[in-house]
Amino acid sequence: AEGLDDLLFDNRFVRELPADPEPANRRRQVQGACYSRVSPTPVSAPRLVAFSREMAQELGLSEEDCRSDRFSRVFTGNELLPGMQPYAMCYGGHQFGHWAGQLGDGRAINLGEVVNRDGRRWVLQLKGAGPTPYSRTADGLAVLRSSIREFLCSEAMFHLGVPTTRALSLTLTGEPVERDMFYDGHPKMEPGAVVCRVAPSFIRFGSFQIHASRGEEALLKQLVDYTIRTDFPELGEPGPDTYLEWFNTVCRRTADMIVHWMRVGFVHGVMNTDNMSILGLTIDYGPYGWLENYDPGWTPNTTDAGGRRYRFGHQPAIASWNLGQLANTIYPLIGQVEPLEAALAEYARHYQAGWQAMMAGKLGLTAYEADTDRPLIDELLAILPIAETDMTLFFRRLARLDPAQPALKDAPDDFIPDDLMVAYYVPGQITADLRGRTGRWLKTYLARLRRDGLPQAVRRRRMNAVNPKYVLRNYLAQLAIDKAETGDFSLVRELLDLLRHPYDAQPEKEAFADRRPDWARHRPGCSMLSCSS
Ligand code: AMP
Ligand code: MG
Ligand code: MG
Repeated sequence: AEGLDDLLFDNRFVRELPADPEPANRRRQVQGACYSRVSPTPVSAPRLVAFSREMAQELGLSEEDCRSDRFSRVFTGNELLPGMQPYAMCYGGHQFGHWAGQLGDGRAINLGEVVNRDGRRWVLQLKGAGPTPYSRTADGLAVLRSSIREFLCSEAMFHLGVPTTRALSLTLTGEPVERDMFYDGHPKMEPGAVVCRVAPSFIRFGSFQIHASRGEEALLKQLVDYTIRTDFPELGEPGPDTYLEWFNTVCRRTADMIVHWMRVGFVHGVMNTDNMSILGLTIDYGPYGWLENYDPGWTPNTTDAGGRRYRFGHQPAIASWNLGQLANTIYPLIGQVEPLEAALAEYARHYQAGWQAMMAGKLGLTAYEADTDRPLIDELLAILPIAETDMTLFFRRLARLDPAQPALKDAPDDFIPDDLMVAYYVPGQITADLRGRTGRWLKTYLARLRRDGLPQAVRRRRMNAVNPKYVLRNYLAQLAIDKAETGDFSLVRELLDLLRHPYDAQPEKEAFADRRPDWARHRPGCSMLSCSS
Protein backbone atom coordinates (compact mmCIF):
# COMPACT_ATOMS: atom_id res chain seq x y z
CA ALA A 1 0.00 0.00 0.00
CA GLU A 2 2.58 2.51 -1.20
CA GLY A 3 0.01 5.17 -2.00
CA LEU A 4 -1.04 5.54 1.62
CA ASP A 5 2.43 6.82 2.47
CA ASP A 6 2.27 9.22 -0.44
CA LEU A 7 -0.76 11.07 0.90
CA LEU A 8 0.45 14.59 1.52
CA PHE A 9 -1.11 16.18 4.59
CA ASP A 10 -1.37 19.91 5.08
CA ASN A 11 -3.57 20.43 8.14
CA ARG A 12 -4.48 24.02 7.69
CA PHE A 13 -7.58 23.99 9.90
CA VAL A 14 -5.69 22.82 13.01
CA ARG A 15 -2.71 24.99 12.16
CA GLU A 16 -4.60 28.25 11.77
CA LEU A 17 -7.51 28.02 14.18
CA PRO A 18 -7.52 27.87 17.99
CA ALA A 19 -7.69 24.46 19.69
CA ASP A 20 -9.51 23.44 22.81
CA PRO A 21 -6.71 23.37 25.45
CA GLU A 22 -8.07 20.28 27.20
CA PRO A 23 -6.64 17.20 25.48
CA ALA A 24 -9.29 14.75 26.62
CA ASN A 25 -12.34 13.09 25.14
CA ARG A 26 -14.42 14.06 28.22
CA ARG A 27 -17.81 15.34 27.07
CA ARG A 28 -18.06 19.05 27.77
CA GLN A 29 -18.78 22.56 26.56
CA VAL A 30 -15.77 23.74 24.60
CA GLN A 31 -15.37 27.52 24.78
CA GLY A 32 -13.11 29.79 22.76
CA ALA A 33 -11.97 27.12 20.30
CA CYS A 34 -12.92 25.75 16.90
CA TYR A 35 -11.95 22.14 17.56
CA SER A 36 -10.62 19.58 20.02
CA ARG A 37 -7.76 17.17 19.45
CA VAL A 38 -9.06 13.63 19.79
CA SER A 39 -8.04 10.11 18.88
CA PRO A 40 -10.17 7.56 17.10
CA THR A 41 -11.03 4.60 19.35
CA PRO A 42 -9.25 1.42 18.17
CA VAL A 43 -11.52 -1.50 17.32
CA SER A 44 -11.05 -5.27 17.27
CA ALA A 45 -11.53 -6.29 13.66
CA PRO A 46 -11.37 -3.61 10.94
CA ARG A 47 -12.66 -4.95 7.66
CA LEU A 48 -13.28 -3.29 4.34
CA VAL A 49 -16.81 -3.56 2.93
CA ALA A 50 -16.52 -1.21 -0.04
CA PHE A 51 -14.59 1.75 -1.37
CA SER A 52 -15.24 4.37 -4.01
CA ARG A 53 -12.79 3.96 -6.83
CA GLU A 54 -13.36 7.52 -8.08
CA MET A 55 -12.66 9.02 -4.67
CA ALA A 56 -9.61 6.81 -4.21
CA GLN A 57 -8.32 7.91 -7.59
CA GLU A 58 -8.87 11.57 -6.71
CA LEU A 59 -6.69 11.04 -3.64
CA GLY A 60 -4.07 9.16 -5.63
CA LEU A 61 -4.82 5.75 -4.11
CA SER A 62 -4.86 2.59 -6.20
CA GLU A 63 -7.34 -0.27 -5.85
CA GLU A 64 -4.55 -2.31 -4.34
CA ASP A 65 -3.98 0.42 -1.73
CA CYS A 66 -7.67 0.28 -0.85
CA ARG A 67 -7.75 -3.49 -0.52
CA SER A 68 -4.76 -3.58 1.84
CA ASP A 69 -5.16 -4.41 5.53
CA ARG A 70 -3.46 -1.17 6.36
CA PHE A 71 -6.15 0.79 4.52
CA SER A 72 -8.84 -0.91 6.63
CA ARG A 73 -6.93 -0.16 9.80
CA VAL A 74 -6.38 3.49 8.90
CA PHE A 75 -9.93 4.15 7.75
CA THR A 76 -11.52 2.44 10.74
CA GLY A 77 -9.36 4.48 13.11
CA ASN A 78 -6.82 1.90 14.29
CA GLU A 79 -3.74 3.45 12.75
CA LEU A 80 -2.72 7.00 11.89
CA LEU A 81 -0.68 7.82 8.81
CA PRO A 82 2.26 10.17 9.20
CA GLY A 83 0.93 13.70 8.98
CA MET A 84 -2.55 12.97 10.33
CA GLN A 85 -3.67 15.17 13.26
CA PRO A 86 -7.11 13.97 14.31
CA TYR A 87 -9.63 16.46 15.67
CA ALA A 88 -13.35 17.00 16.24
CA MET A 89 -14.98 20.31 15.32
CA CYS A 90 -17.09 22.46 17.60
CA TYR A 91 -20.38 23.68 16.15
CA GLY A 92 -23.92 24.47 17.17
CA GLY A 93 -27.18 24.60 15.31
CA HIS A 94 -30.87 25.19 15.07
CA GLN A 95 -32.61 21.83 15.20
CA PHE A 96 -36.19 21.81 13.89
CA GLY A 97 -36.31 25.59 14.26
CA HIS A 98 -34.93 25.83 17.80
CA TRP A 99 -31.45 26.81 18.92
CA ALA A 100 -29.82 23.66 20.31
CA GLY A 101 -26.56 25.08 21.66
CA GLN A 102 -23.31 23.18 21.24
CA LEU A 103 -23.50 20.08 19.04
CA GLY A 104 -20.16 19.44 17.34
CA ASP A 105 -18.59 16.35 15.79
CA GLY A 106 -20.09 13.85 18.22
CA ARG A 107 -19.08 10.88 16.14
CA ALA A 108 -16.98 12.37 13.38
CA ILE A 109 -13.23 12.60 13.63
CA ASN A 110 -11.27 14.52 11.04
CA LEU A 111 -7.98 12.84 10.25
CA GLY A 112 -6.39 15.69 8.33
CA GLU A 113 -6.33 17.51 5.02
CA VAL A 114 -4.79 15.91 1.96
CA VAL A 115 -3.54 18.04 -0.90
CA ASN A 116 -3.72 15.88 -4.03
CA ARG A 117 -1.45 15.94 -7.06
CA ASP A 118 -3.60 18.59 -8.70
CA GLY A 119 -3.41 20.80 -5.64
CA ARG A 120 -6.96 20.08 -4.52
CA ARG A 121 -7.57 19.99 -0.77
CA TRP A 122 -9.60 17.15 0.74
CA VAL A 123 -10.44 16.70 4.41
CA LEU A 124 -10.67 13.03 5.43
CA GLN A 125 -13.19 12.34 8.17
CA LEU A 126 -14.16 9.13 9.94
CA LYS A 127 -17.79 8.87 10.99
CA GLY A 128 -18.37 6.40 13.82
CA ALA A 129 -14.81 6.10 15.16
CA GLY A 130 -15.63 6.73 18.80
CA PRO A 131 -16.55 9.46 21.25
CA THR A 132 -15.34 13.05 21.25
CA PRO A 133 -15.95 15.96 23.64
CA TYR A 134 -19.08 16.63 21.54
CA SER A 135 -20.70 13.21 21.92
CA ARG A 136 -23.11 14.45 24.62
CA THR A 137 -25.06 11.37 25.81
CA ALA A 138 -24.34 9.24 22.74
CA ASP A 139 -21.61 6.71 21.99
CA GLY A 140 -19.74 8.23 19.05
CA LEU A 141 -20.41 5.14 16.97
CA ALA A 142 -22.32 4.32 13.80
CA VAL A 143 -24.08 1.17 12.71
CA LEU A 144 -23.75 -0.68 9.44
CA ARG A 145 -27.29 0.20 8.32
CA SER A 146 -26.82 3.98 8.45
CA SER A 147 -23.23 3.75 7.20
CA ILE A 148 -24.34 1.88 4.07
CA ARG A 149 -26.94 4.58 3.49
CA GLU A 150 -24.40 7.38 3.83
CA PHE A 151 -21.72 5.66 1.77
CA LEU A 152 -24.01 4.75 -1.14
CA CYS A 153 -25.91 8.01 -1.24
CA SER A 154 -22.86 10.29 -1.12
CA GLU A 155 -21.37 8.60 -4.15
CA ALA A 156 -24.74 8.30 -5.93
CA MET A 157 -25.28 12.05 -5.51
CA PHE A 158 -21.80 12.76 -6.85
CA HIS A 159 -22.50 10.76 -9.99
CA LEU A 160 -25.86 12.49 -10.38
CA GLY A 161 -23.99 15.79 -10.47
CA VAL A 162 -25.39 17.02 -7.16
CA PRO A 163 -22.97 18.99 -4.94
CA THR A 164 -22.15 16.65 -2.05
CA THR A 165 -19.62 15.46 0.46
CA ARG A 166 -18.02 12.23 -0.72
CA ALA A 167 -17.29 8.83 0.74
CA LEU A 168 -14.00 7.00 0.33
CA SER A 169 -14.71 3.82 2.23
CA LEU A 170 -17.09 1.75 4.30
CA THR A 171 -15.56 -0.55 6.89
CA LEU A 172 -16.78 -2.80 9.66
CA THR A 173 -15.31 -2.40 13.13
CA GLY A 174 -16.03 -5.92 14.34
CA GLU A 175 -17.79 -4.46 17.37
CA PRO A 176 -21.49 -4.59 18.13
CA VAL A 177 -23.32 -1.33 18.77
CA GLU A 178 -26.52 -1.00 20.76
CA ARG A 179 -29.36 0.91 19.15
CA ASP A 180 -33.01 1.65 19.89
CA MET A 181 -34.66 0.55 16.72
CA PHE A 182 -38.14 1.31 15.54
CA TYR A 183 -39.22 -2.32 15.16
CA ASP A 184 -40.38 -3.04 18.71
CA GLY A 185 -38.88 -0.29 20.86
CA HIS A 186 -36.32 -2.64 22.43
CA PRO A 187 -32.58 -2.09 22.07
CA LYS A 188 -30.90 -4.23 19.46
CA MET A 189 -27.24 -5.02 18.83
CA GLU A 190 -26.08 -4.03 15.38
CA PRO A 191 -22.74 -4.29 13.55
CA GLY A 192 -20.56 -1.20 14.04
CA ALA A 193 -19.19 0.51 10.94
CA VAL A 194 -17.17 3.53 9.88
CA VAL A 195 -17.52 5.65 6.76
CA CYS A 196 -14.57 7.76 5.68
CA ARG A 197 -16.20 10.93 4.39
CA VAL A 198 -14.30 13.37 2.22
CA ALA A 199 -14.95 17.03 1.42
CA PRO A 200 -12.95 20.20 0.80
CA SER A 201 -14.36 21.36 4.14
CA PHE A 202 -16.87 20.10 6.69
CA ILE A 203 -17.58 23.58 8.07
CA ARG A 204 -21.30 24.12 8.61
CA PHE A 205 -23.58 27.12 9.20
CA GLY A 206 -23.54 25.96 12.83
CA SER A 207 -19.74 26.27 12.97
CA PHE A 208 -20.18 30.04 12.82
CA GLN A 209 -23.35 30.13 14.89
CA ILE A 210 -21.73 28.59 17.96
CA HIS A 211 -19.22 31.44 18.27
CA ALA A 212 -21.79 34.16 17.64
CA SER A 213 -24.09 32.60 20.24
CA ARG A 214 -21.30 32.83 22.82
CA GLY A 215 -20.30 36.37 21.93
CA GLU A 216 -16.94 35.09 20.65
CA GLU A 217 -16.80 37.76 17.98
CA ALA A 218 -13.04 37.66 17.37
CA LEU A 219 -13.20 33.92 16.93
CA LEU A 220 -16.18 34.23 14.60
CA LYS A 221 -14.21 36.66 12.47
CA GLN A 222 -11.18 34.38 12.51
CA LEU A 223 -13.25 31.45 11.26
CA VAL A 224 -14.94 33.54 8.56
CA ASP A 225 -11.57 34.88 7.38
CA TYR A 226 -10.14 31.38 7.39
CA THR A 227 -13.08 30.07 5.35
CA ILE A 228 -12.85 32.84 2.78
CA ARG A 229 -9.09 32.43 2.36
CA THR A 230 -9.23 28.65 2.21
CA ASP A 231 -12.45 27.82 0.42
CA PHE A 232 -13.45 31.04 -1.37
CA PRO A 233 -10.06 32.43 -2.45
CA GLU A 234 -11.61 33.91 -5.60
CA LEU A 235 -13.35 36.49 -3.39
CA GLY A 236 -10.07 38.11 -2.38
CA GLU A 237 -8.83 39.20 1.00
CA PRO A 238 -11.41 39.25 3.83
CA GLY A 239 -12.97 42.62 4.69
CA PRO A 240 -16.47 44.10 5.01
CA ASP A 241 -17.23 43.98 1.27
CA THR A 242 -15.78 40.52 0.97
CA TYR A 243 -17.94 39.28 3.86
CA LEU A 244 -21.04 40.38 2.00
CA GLU A 245 -19.89 38.90 -1.29
CA TRP A 246 -19.12 35.69 0.59
CA PHE A 247 -22.62 35.54 2.06
CA ASN A 248 -24.08 36.16 -1.40
CA THR A 249 -21.97 33.31 -2.75
CA VAL A 250 -23.11 30.97 0.03
CA CYS A 251 -26.72 31.90 -0.78
CA ARG A 252 -26.25 31.14 -4.47
CA ARG A 253 -24.46 27.86 -3.86
CA THR A 254 -27.14 26.76 -1.41
CA ALA A 255 -29.83 27.65 -3.96
CA ASP A 256 -28.02 25.64 -6.65
CA MET A 257 -27.80 22.63 -4.34
CA ILE A 258 -31.52 22.74 -3.56
CA VAL A 259 -32.39 23.03 -7.27
CA HIS A 260 -30.47 19.78 -7.78
CA TRP A 261 -32.33 18.10 -4.92
CA MET A 262 -35.62 19.11 -6.50
CA ARG A 263 -34.42 17.84 -9.86
CA VAL A 264 -33.58 14.33 -8.67
CA GLY A 265 -36.26 13.97 -5.98
CA PHE A 266 -33.97 13.98 -2.96
CA VAL A 267 -35.35 14.78 0.49
CA HIS A 268 -32.62 15.50 3.03
CA GLY A 269 -34.86 14.97 6.02
CA VAL A 270 -32.88 16.91 8.65
CA MET A 271 -32.08 20.37 7.30
CA ASN A 272 -30.93 21.69 10.67
CA THR A 273 -28.35 24.47 10.45
CA ASP A 274 -25.67 22.08 11.75
CA ASN A 275 -26.36 19.98 8.64
CA MET A 276 -25.87 22.83 6.17
CA SER A 277 -22.44 22.94 4.54
CA ILE A 278 -20.90 26.37 4.05
CA LEU A 279 -19.79 25.13 0.62
CA GLY A 280 -23.33 24.31 -0.46
CA LEU A 281 -22.68 20.57 -0.40
CA THR A 282 -25.24 17.99 0.60
CA ILE A 283 -23.97 16.82 3.99
CA ASP A 284 -25.00 14.38 6.75
CA TYR A 285 -26.94 11.60 5.11
CA GLY A 286 -29.26 10.46 7.90
CA PRO A 287 -32.99 9.83 7.49
CA TYR A 288 -32.97 11.10 3.89
CA GLY A 289 -35.19 9.63 1.22
CA TRP A 290 -35.99 9.66 -2.48
CA LEU A 291 -39.36 10.62 -3.83
CA GLU A 292 -40.90 7.61 -5.48
CA ASN A 293 -44.51 8.68 -5.95
CA TYR A 294 -44.29 12.44 -6.46
CA ASP A 295 -45.54 14.05 -3.23
CA PRO A 296 -44.21 17.46 -2.23
CA GLY A 297 -45.54 16.89 1.29
CA TRP A 298 -43.44 13.80 1.91
CA THR A 299 -40.67 13.53 4.48
CA PRO A 300 -38.81 10.30 5.17
CA ASN A 301 -37.94 11.36 8.73
CA THR A 302 -40.32 9.91 11.34
CA THR A 303 -39.05 12.50 13.86
CA ASP A 304 -40.37 15.18 11.51
CA ALA A 305 -43.61 13.40 10.60
CA GLY A 306 -45.82 15.72 12.65
CA GLY A 307 -44.42 19.07 11.55
CA ARG A 308 -43.10 17.90 8.20
CA ARG A 309 -40.77 20.89 8.41
CA TYR A 310 -38.32 19.18 6.09
CA ARG A 311 -40.76 17.81 3.50
CA PHE A 312 -39.67 17.75 -0.15
CA GLY A 313 -41.58 20.84 -1.24
CA HIS A 314 -40.45 22.89 1.73
CA GLN A 315 -36.71 22.48 1.16
CA PRO A 316 -36.19 25.77 -0.73
CA ALA A 317 -37.95 27.74 2.01
CA ILE A 318 -36.08 25.97 4.80
CA ALA A 319 -32.76 26.65 3.11
CA SER A 320 -33.74 30.32 3.09
CA TRP A 321 -34.63 30.17 6.79
CA ASN A 322 -31.25 28.58 7.51
CA LEU A 323 -29.48 31.25 5.47
CA GLY A 324 -31.37 33.81 7.54
CA GLN A 325 -29.83 32.31 10.67
CA LEU A 326 -26.40 32.54 9.05
CA ALA A 327 -27.12 36.18 8.20
CA ASN A 328 -27.92 36.88 11.87
CA THR A 329 -24.69 35.16 12.81
CA ILE A 330 -22.40 37.21 10.61
CA TYR A 331 -24.28 40.48 11.12
CA PRO A 332 -21.67 41.72 13.66
CA LEU A 333 -19.02 41.53 10.93
CA ILE A 334 -21.12 43.56 8.52
CA GLY A 335 -23.05 45.93 10.76
CA GLN A 336 -25.86 46.53 8.28
CA VAL A 337 -29.12 44.70 7.89
CA GLU A 338 -30.15 45.83 4.39
CA PRO A 339 -27.42 44.15 2.33
CA LEU A 340 -28.01 40.87 4.18
CA GLU A 341 -31.72 41.12 3.45
CA ALA A 342 -30.91 41.90 -0.17
CA ALA A 343 -28.79 38.76 -0.33
CA LEU A 344 -31.66 36.67 1.00
CA ALA A 345 -33.99 38.21 -1.58
CA GLU A 346 -31.39 37.37 -4.19
CA TYR A 347 -31.36 33.77 -2.91
CA ALA A 348 -35.08 33.56 -3.68
CA ARG A 349 -34.63 35.03 -7.17
CA HIS A 350 -31.62 32.86 -7.93
CA TYR A 351 -33.44 29.77 -6.71
CA GLN A 352 -36.54 30.61 -8.71
CA ALA A 353 -34.61 31.17 -11.93
CA GLY A 354 -32.54 28.02 -11.36
CA TRP A 355 -35.63 25.96 -10.64
CA GLN A 356 -37.42 27.21 -13.75
CA ALA A 357 -34.43 26.44 -15.96
CA MET A 358 -34.11 23.03 -14.31
CA MET A 359 -37.79 22.18 -14.87
CA ALA A 360 -37.57 23.34 -18.46
CA GLY A 361 -34.58 21.01 -18.82
CA LYS A 362 -36.49 18.08 -17.32
CA LEU A 363 -39.23 18.68 -19.87
CA GLY A 364 -36.75 18.92 -22.73
CA LEU A 365 -37.37 22.59 -23.54
CA THR A 366 -34.48 24.68 -24.83
CA ALA A 367 -35.45 27.56 -22.54
CA TYR A 368 -38.06 28.47 -19.97
CA GLU A 369 -40.75 30.80 -21.34
CA ALA A 370 -42.80 32.13 -18.47
CA ASP A 371 -46.05 32.73 -20.36
CA THR A 372 -46.47 29.18 -21.56
CA ASP A 373 -44.20 27.17 -19.31
CA ARG A 374 -45.32 28.41 -15.91
CA PRO A 375 -48.89 27.11 -16.40
CA LEU A 376 -47.53 23.98 -18.09
CA ILE A 377 -45.29 23.13 -15.13
CA ASP A 378 -47.88 24.16 -12.52
CA GLU A 379 -50.48 21.87 -14.05
CA LEU A 380 -48.02 18.97 -14.30
CA LEU A 381 -47.02 19.30 -10.64
CA ALA A 382 -50.70 19.46 -9.70
CA ILE A 383 -51.45 16.27 -11.64
CA LEU A 384 -48.51 14.13 -10.57
CA PRO A 385 -49.51 13.65 -6.90
CA ILE A 386 -53.13 12.73 -7.65
CA ALA A 387 -52.54 9.10 -8.57
CA GLU A 388 -49.14 8.22 -7.08
CA THR A 389 -46.94 8.85 -10.08
CA ASP A 390 -43.30 7.76 -9.83
CA MET A 391 -41.29 10.91 -10.40
CA THR A 392 -38.15 9.26 -11.77
CA LEU A 393 -40.00 6.98 -14.16
CA PHE A 394 -42.36 9.69 -15.35
CA PHE A 395 -39.67 12.15 -16.47
CA ARG A 396 -37.50 9.42 -17.92
CA ARG A 397 -40.42 8.01 -19.91
CA LEU A 398 -41.50 11.45 -21.09
CA ALA A 399 -38.32 11.59 -23.16
CA ARG A 400 -39.57 8.69 -25.25
CA LEU A 401 -42.60 10.56 -26.56
CA ASP A 402 -42.14 11.85 -30.07
CA PRO A 403 -44.36 14.88 -30.70
CA ALA A 404 -44.27 14.18 -34.44
CA GLN A 405 -45.85 10.76 -34.00
CA PRO A 406 -49.35 10.79 -35.55
CA ALA A 407 -50.63 8.37 -32.86
CA LEU A 408 -49.89 11.03 -30.24
CA LYS A 409 -50.98 13.96 -32.35
CA ASP A 410 -54.39 12.56 -33.13
CA ALA A 411 -54.96 10.76 -29.83
CA PRO A 412 -58.21 11.34 -27.97
CA ASP A 413 -58.10 13.90 -25.18
CA ASP A 414 -57.94 11.33 -22.40
CA PHE A 415 -55.13 9.23 -23.86
CA ILE A 416 -52.18 8.31 -21.62
CA PRO A 417 -49.44 6.46 -23.54
CA ASP A 418 -48.27 3.11 -22.18
CA ASP A 419 -44.81 4.58 -21.75
CA LEU A 420 -46.23 6.82 -19.04
CA MET A 421 -48.66 4.30 -17.55
CA VAL A 422 -45.74 2.38 -16.03
CA ALA A 423 -45.11 5.36 -13.74
CA TYR A 424 -48.42 4.92 -11.88
CA TYR A 425 -48.36 2.85 -8.70
CA VAL A 426 -52.09 2.23 -8.66
CA PRO A 427 -53.50 2.69 -12.16
CA GLY A 428 -56.93 2.13 -10.61
CA GLN A 429 -56.61 5.57 -9.03
CA ILE A 430 -56.66 7.20 -12.45
CA THR A 431 -60.18 8.59 -12.64
CA ALA A 432 -61.82 9.78 -15.85
CA ASP A 433 -61.22 13.32 -14.64
CA LEU A 434 -57.51 12.74 -14.12
CA ARG A 435 -57.26 10.92 -17.43
CA GLY A 436 -58.75 13.98 -19.13
CA ARG A 437 -56.47 16.40 -17.33
CA THR A 438 -53.39 14.32 -18.10
CA GLY A 439 -54.36 13.89 -21.72
CA ARG A 440 -54.95 17.63 -22.13
CA TRP A 441 -51.65 18.38 -20.41
CA LEU A 442 -49.88 16.04 -22.82
CA LYS A 443 -51.47 17.72 -25.81
CA THR A 444 -50.31 21.13 -24.62
CA TYR A 445 -46.86 19.77 -23.83
CA LEU A 446 -46.42 18.07 -27.18
CA ALA A 447 -47.57 21.22 -28.96
CA ARG A 448 -45.00 23.17 -26.95
CA LEU A 449 -42.30 20.70 -28.02
CA ARG A 450 -43.29 21.06 -31.66
CA ARG A 451 -43.03 24.83 -31.34
CA ASP A 452 -39.65 24.44 -29.61
CA GLY A 453 -38.49 22.45 -32.60
CA LEU A 454 -35.56 20.51 -31.18
CA PRO A 455 -34.93 17.31 -33.12
CA GLN A 456 -36.41 14.41 -31.13
CA ALA A 457 -33.06 12.61 -30.73
CA VAL A 458 -31.36 15.72 -29.41
CA ARG A 459 -34.13 16.50 -26.95
CA ARG A 460 -34.21 12.91 -25.75
CA ARG A 461 -30.48 12.92 -25.15
CA ARG A 462 -30.71 16.19 -23.21
CA MET A 463 -33.63 14.96 -21.11
CA ASN A 464 -31.86 11.72 -20.30
CA ALA A 465 -28.86 13.72 -19.09
CA VAL A 466 -30.90 15.51 -16.42
CA ASN A 467 -33.58 12.93 -15.60
CA PRO A 468 -31.82 9.99 -13.98
CA LYS A 469 -32.89 6.45 -14.76
CA TYR A 470 -31.44 5.03 -11.54
CA VAL A 471 -31.65 6.61 -8.10
CA LEU A 472 -31.07 5.07 -4.69
CA ARG A 473 -34.68 4.08 -4.20
CA ASN A 474 -35.47 3.72 -0.52
CA TYR A 475 -36.26 0.03 -0.77
CA LEU A 476 -33.07 -0.71 -2.72
CA ALA A 477 -30.92 0.71 0.07
CA GLN A 478 -32.94 -1.36 2.54
CA LEU A 479 -32.46 -4.58 0.53
CA ALA A 480 -28.71 -3.94 0.48
CA ILE A 481 -28.80 -3.41 4.24
CA ASP A 482 -30.83 -6.58 4.88
CA LYS A 483 -28.30 -8.61 2.91
CA ALA A 484 -25.31 -6.88 4.50
CA GLU A 485 -26.61 -7.68 7.96
CA THR A 486 -26.33 -11.37 7.04
CA GLY A 487 -22.71 -10.79 5.98
CA ASP A 488 -23.39 -10.55 2.25
CA PHE A 489 -22.19 -7.21 0.83
CA SER A 490 -22.83 -8.03 -2.81
CA LEU A 491 -25.82 -5.72 -3.17
CA VAL A 492 -23.97 -2.80 -1.57
CA ARG A 493 -21.29 -3.20 -4.20
CA GLU A 494 -23.77 -3.79 -7.00
CA LEU A 495 -25.70 -0.62 -6.16
CA LEU A 496 -22.49 1.38 -5.86
CA ASP A 497 -21.60 0.18 -9.34
CA LEU A 498 -25.08 0.79 -10.77
CA LEU A 499 -25.24 4.33 -9.41
CA ARG A 500 -21.95 5.25 -11.04
CA HIS A 501 -23.93 5.72 -14.24
CA PRO A 502 -27.37 6.91 -13.14
CA TYR A 503 -28.28 8.43 -16.52
CA ASP A 504 -27.28 5.47 -18.68
CA ALA A 505 -29.52 2.62 -19.68
CA GLN A 506 -27.99 -0.50 -18.13
CA PRO A 507 -29.93 -3.32 -19.81
CA GLU A 508 -28.97 -6.03 -17.30
CA LYS A 509 -29.96 -3.76 -14.43
CA GLU A 510 -33.38 -2.76 -15.72
CA ALA A 511 -35.13 -4.06 -12.58
CA PHE A 512 -33.40 -1.44 -10.42
CA ALA A 513 -35.23 1.26 -12.39
CA ASP A 514 -38.65 -0.21 -11.67
CA ARG A 515 -41.28 1.19 -9.37
CA ARG A 516 -40.99 0.34 -5.71
CA PRO A 517 -42.65 -3.04 -5.13
CA ASP A 518 -45.86 -3.14 -3.10
CA TRP A 519 -44.28 -4.81 -0.08
CA ALA A 520 -41.98 -1.80 0.36
CA ARG A 521 -44.80 0.69 0.63
CA HIS A 522 -44.99 0.83 4.40
CA ARG A 523 -41.97 -1.17 5.54
CA PRO A 524 -39.68 0.74 7.95
CA GLY A 525 -36.50 1.69 6.18
CA CYS A 526 -38.24 1.58 2.81
CA SER A 527 -40.50 4.56 3.33
CA MET A 528 -39.91 6.08 6.75
CA LEU A 529 -36.74 6.29 8.82
CA SER A 530 -35.95 7.26 12.36
CA CYS A 531 -32.93 9.34 13.32
CA SER A 532 -31.47 6.29 15.12
CA SER A 533 -28.21 5.59 13.37
P1 AMP B 1 -27.46 14.61 13.34
O1 AMP B 1 -28.91 14.60 13.74
O2 AMP B 1 -26.98 13.32 12.80
O3 AMP B 1 -27.13 15.75 12.45
O4 AMP B 1 -26.63 14.81 14.68
C1 AMP B 1 -26.80 15.89 15.54
C2 AMP B 1 -25.70 15.90 16.57
O5 AMP B 1 -25.69 14.67 17.30
C3 AMP B 1 -24.29 16.04 15.99
O6 AMP B 1 -23.55 16.83 16.87
C4 AMP B 1 -23.80 14.62 15.94
O7 AMP B 1 -22.39 14.53 15.96
C5 AMP B 1 -24.41 14.04 17.22
N1 AMP B 1 -24.57 12.60 17.17
C6 AMP B 1 -25.44 11.89 16.41
N2 AMP B 1 -25.29 10.55 16.63
C7 AMP B 1 -24.29 10.42 17.53
C8 AMP B 1 -23.65 9.31 18.17
N3 AMP B 1 -24.02 8.04 17.93
N4 AMP B 1 -22.66 9.57 19.05
C9 AMP B 1 -22.29 10.82 19.32
N5 AMP B 1 -22.84 11.90 18.77
C10 AMP B 1 -23.84 11.72 17.89
MG1 MG C 1 -25.37 16.30 11.64
MG1 MG D 1 -25.73 12.67 11.47
